[in-house]
Amino acid sequence: MRITCPLCGARDHREFTYKGAALPVPALEAGTVAWDTHVHLRENPAGPHEELWQHSMGCGAWLKVRRNTVSHEILAVELAQDAGLAIMEERS
Ligand SMILES: [Zn+2]
Repeated sequence: MRITCPLCGARDHREFTYKGAALPVPALEAGTVAWDTHVHLRENPAGPHEELWQHSMGCGAWLKVRRNTVSHEILAVELAQDAGLAIMEERS
């Protein structure tokens, strides 16, 4: 599987790290039920699915990837920031 990073071009998927489903993040004050649902309840679709990937072995950009989970065909890729997704960086 190859993912086309908008900044680097087409690269092998092993350069990228899967970061989960590309879902809207609840507001901080949304409450425990909304956050519990966001963190623990996930769809497991067979077909097109929007995901977050990071080009961790490349430029480091976070990407919103639309991928068919059955065929692994990459249907669309855009920078997460251009898709309006807030990214919370991990601290080491
Ligand atoms: Zn890149």
